[in-house]
Amino acid sequence: MPKTQPTALLFEMSKLGCRASQWPACDVPEQPLGDLLPAGAMADAPAPLPELSEPDVVRHFINLSTKNMSVDANFYPLGSCTMKYNPKRNERLTSLPGMADLHPYQPESTVQGMLALLYECQRDLAEIAGLPAVSLQPAAGAHGEMTSMLVAAAYFRDRHERRTKVLIPDSAHGTNPASAAMAGFQTQSVRSTLDGFVDLDDLASKLNDETAVLMITNPNTLGRFEPRIGQIARQVHDVGGLVYADGANMNAILGVVRPGDFGADLMHFNPHKTFSGPHGGGGPGAGPIAVAEPLAPFLPTPVVVRTDRGYRLDYDRPKSIGQVRDFVGSVGVLVRMYCYLRTHGPKQLRRVAEDAVLNANYVLSQVKDFLPVPHGDGAMHEFVASAETLKTSKGISAMDVAKRLLDYGFHAPTVYFPLIVHEAIMIEPTETESKTTLDQFAAALREIVDEPAERLHDAPHSTPICRPDEVAAARHPVLRWQAGAKP
Ligand SMILES: *Cc1c(COP(=O)(O)O)cnc(C)c1O
Repeated sequence: MPKTQPTALLFEMSKLGCRASQWPACDVPEQPLGDLLPAGAMADAPAPLPELSEPDVVRHFINLSTKNMSVDANFYPLGSCTMKYNPKRNERLTSLPGMADLHPYQPESTVQGMLALLYECQRDLAEIAGLPAVSLQPAAGAHGEMTSMLVAAAYFRDRHERRTKVLIPDSAHGTNPASAAMAGFQTQSVRSTLDGFVDLDDLASKLNDETAVLMITNPNTLGRFEPRIGQIARQVHDVGGLVYADGANMNAILGVVRPGDFGADLMHFNPHKTFSGPHGGGGPGAGPIAVAEPLAPFLPTPVVVRTDRGYRLDYDRPKSIGQVRDFVGSVGVLVRMYCYLRTHGPKQLRRVAEDAVLNANYVLSQVKDFLPVPHGDGAMHEFVASAETLKTSKGISAMDVAKRLLDYGFHAPTVYFPLIVHEAIMIEPTETESKTTLDQFAAALREIVDEPAERLHDAPHSTPICRPDEVAAARHPVLRWQAGAKP
């Protein structure tokens, strides 16, 4: 198949007079535009738009689309992101006219099916969370965190308690402190022990009657389940605080353990991670939250309720923090989640978690032979290797390894997160990858760490763009086409 020039822009391919469509001859008297529009609304000259035939435009975009890595084309071991395969069936069901063509202003009586679906989403998430009340409104995981922090703040305000501090382990995702701060709390970091768990002494020294919430990710971002979570939750509750579970890692524990049962009072889900919503590319996500009974009155409106006369959107909740976005939430993502939940059912959901943990441990068992995995014992659905020794011995960084993987046909894993591991390479294979793929990935990594450093420093070599200067690319991005300029 002939390839177009890798970096040719539509502007460069433009040929004067080329058209995608031809207009029929005008059959009404022509009038100069200037007679119809005020002078200030007229441009000095026609816009310098590219002129091309329709097939040229289609091929341009199709060729561009194949230059990117994607879950459909490549293994995507992006730690903390749960890049599982997104079944095409869920896409098909979500685009059925009865789903896709609804309008949020339609009368409730005409959208009973969709309301029933959303109601069941609330019910199923409540069951998985072990927490009874759910809001589907938030637009992403981080937004779910912030919404939960607003719910917690409203709860304490209602009780006339002045609690200002949110405690967050140092292994946490950066969105946790950001969400707490945006909701008006002061954040305090809690240290991790050498084995990657919460330092109980440090936690105890920071718990007091100013503590509002402990935000904890379990399993944590090292991929390890905090064994003392029950005790930690009790300690927080003893000083009158709440426990928030960051649910981004639910893929590891679905159907096995419920955050509500280990002491969480609030949590968020990432349907675009755990429940097969497509993600990346800035597409929509969703961040439903589940909360304990005493927090339910403060959830955002509307909540989907079931009455004798059918399903209804309930806006009449006097203690609610109000709407956090328009309408019900990212309904398209929620429908995909519903399809995923229904397709699996409770028993198979548990299998998802078991297989995700099995796959991660299978890759770990091979990788630890050639890359240190400092907290690897007892890993769950992901693990964090370290390129620190590779860096000191051969000058090869985590970034070099990640970029070189692209040449082998694998998406780069998450690097330099969590911050508590030096030269971190965070690998999450998910349950949908085969043993063959996992073997190929581990073999590629093994080859890469033995390659000469020079081969890695400017990797990748086979992608349309090789190794850009990341600082310059971020500080001086070239986003506008200029005549004659070479991209
Ligand atoms: C992805 C992630 C988040 C944020 O979720 P978004 O949906 O990307 O906003 C929060 N915490 C952890 C641990 C995550 O991995």
